[in-house]
Order: sequence, then C-alpha cells, then structure tokens
Amino acid sequence: MPMSSASPTSAGTVRATSRLTDSHGRVIHDLRVSITDRCNYKCVYCRTGEVGAQYPELRIEEYLRLIRIFVRLGISKVRLTGGEPLLRAGLIDLLGELARMRTLDGEPLDLALTTNGHLLEDLAQPLKRAGLQRATVSMDAVNAETFERITRVPGSFHAVLRGIRAARDAGLTPLKINCVLLRGFNDGEVEGFAHFAREEGVVVRFIEFMPLEEGRLWSPDIVVPLAEIVERIHRVMPLVPVAPREASETACRYGFADGEGEIGIIAPVTQAFCGACSRVRLTSDGKIRTCLFSQVEHDLYGRMRAGENDEELAAYVERTVQGKEARHHIGEPGFLKPSRSMVHIGG
Ligand code: SAM
Repeated sequence: MPMSSASPTSAGTVRATSRLTDSHGRVIHDLRVSITDRCNYKCVYCRTGEVGAQYPELRIEEYLRLIRIFVRLGISKVRLTGGEPLLRAGLIDLLGELARMRTLDGEPLDLALTTNGHLLEDLAQPLKRAGLQRATVSMDAVNAETFERITRVPGSFHAVLRGIRAARDAGLTPLKINCVLLRGFNDGEVEGFAHFAREEGVVVRFIEFMPLEEGRLWSPDIVVPLAEIVERIHRVMPLVPVAPREASETACRYGFADGEGEIGIIAPVTQAFCGACSRVRLTSDGKIRTCLFSQVEHDLYGRMRAGENDEELAAYVERTVQGKEARHHIGEPGFLKPSRSMVHIGG
C-alpha cells in the first residue's frame, strides 16, 4: 500500500497526508526533471554524435503542473537537467514559478540545475534572480585540448570556464563541478582537478562512468574507481573524509587536510548507493523513471493529455513510485542497458 495518500482539496488540487515512499521504505523527496532532450555538446562518452534529440519537450506550464503534483506528494528538491537545460526557452519563467512553490513543510523548494556551462556566462545572473540556488557544471578535463576532444565543440573550454566564474560570482553556490573519468582518456586529469577545486573555489565531484552511453563503450576496465581517485589525490594533497550531511547523499566527500576545499566522488559502480536512493526522474517527454536503469517508463504526461485530473495523476505517481527498483545491476551477468541513454533520461 502506498504510504502517502492524496486527497482532493476544495481547490481541486492534491494534498498529501504523508510522504511519497517506495515499497522498500525509501522516502522519495528528490525529483530530476529533463526540460529538453537537445544538447549543444557531443561528449564522446555520452553521445555518438550522429543523432540529435530523440524525444519531444513539454510546454513549460505542463512541466509546472506535473512538478506541482510531485511537490504536493512530498518532493522537496527539484533539479532541472537535460539534454542541456540552458537551451530551453522559458527556463527563467519556469524557475520563477518553481521558486514560488512550497514544500509540504511550507519551505521553498531546494532548486538546482545541472548544465554543461556553455551558456552560463550570460545566464548565471538571470538564473539566480529567478530563484535558482545552486548549479552543477559538468566538466571532464581541466586541460583545454582534452576538454574539447571530449565535447567536440571548439572554444568550449574557455566558454565553460567563464560560465563557472560567472555562476560563482552570481552566488549559485556551492558550485559543483561534475567530472566523469574514463581510463586512458581523461584519467590523467585527476590531480589537475584537485588543484582546480582549490584555485576556483568549487567542489569537484568525480563520477564513475556508468553504462548509459548512446554507443557501446562501457566496460568495467574503463571505470576509474573511487578508491583509485582518492589514493591518487591523497598522494599529492592529503585528504580527510567528511561525514555525509544526509543518508541519501550520492557523493563520498573528502576535505583537503589543510582545511581549504573539498572534493566528492560519486561511485555508483564500485559503491552503489541504491539503498539510500531518494530520487525519481521525469523525462523531457513527461515519462516517470524510477531508476536510471529502469527497463520501463511510466507515461505520466500521456495520462495528463488523456484528461486525468491532478488527484488521478497523483495516485498514478504514488503507484509508480511504489514499484521503484530495489537497486541497479551494473556489472552483473544479465545486466540490461536501459532503452534511453543518460542524455535522454536527464542526468
Ligand atoms: N547537459 C547537462 C550537463 O552536461 O550537465 C545535463 C545533462 S548530462 C547527461 C548530466 C551529467 O551526466 C553530466 O555530468 C555527464 O557528464 C553525465 N553523464 C553522461 N553520461 C554518463 C555516464 N555514462 N556515466 C556517468 N555520467 C554520465
């Protein structure tokens, strides 16, 4: 039985009596929404470079209606992603509306955004003014040449660097930099990123490469594991572990021993954190995904288009979340890659 039950209010909206919970007892409070399937980069480990957007986008007011339903069921954090979210017309208006929403506790939503940073220089201030609190910028090398070999976009390194600095100056903090490491490709960047974190005043987080690419690249040998990253940085800049702020935190955090700066490592492959997962995703075309590695999608938008009201949609969200997978099976025999890759799910 769902733990939270939605009931109609006089305004015809949805009121939840307790939190959105799955059948494994995990409270789901974190929603990731892809607001476009388009991207202006063709990162070699993510996209083949031969195909563009694969899935449609909803109208901004449609995302808002769906997000509002999740919030009334207990979602307190919303992360906008894509594709590349900064390409999406209406983003500033969307953020403005999200900033006005309140959680079940009457608090503002925790609003975040994941971007490749290419357009951030001009957008950092407007995003902050609209209500965005913090941003995560993806950056897979601190060497300009390596970076542009990955993104396949000339000039991208300096554009992203300007974007990072603009975001920091605009107060989109803590500003996090996400770096996916691939052995033999950009794993030489590890130590450089440790320096970068301190010089730029950002939190660098290394992410283990997952089998979510458009092509067929992934193998366990390409993954640079958490233990190796920590050991390599520790050798040049001693690290001390930092206690997690909350159980569902994805990153294992380490501070530099001299107290200046921090790095994190997100290790879904070698240290899966599914047991504490608090996330659910909405794709750009309005499908719910209960896990990055789900084999099925749940067509919330289709139900909305068919005329279901907010109570019916809320009940569908609750039922769907109940069926959230216990864990992923990366690296196990019989592992099945999901039908959508990361860029089309929303990372
Ligand atoms: N365009 C935005 C960006 O670049 O941050 C948002 C979408 S992008 C798909 C989100 C994040 O997923 C990026 O940090 C990217 O590096 C990461 N990513 C893509 N494919 C991945 C994979 N197979 N394993 C781990 N992370 C991946």
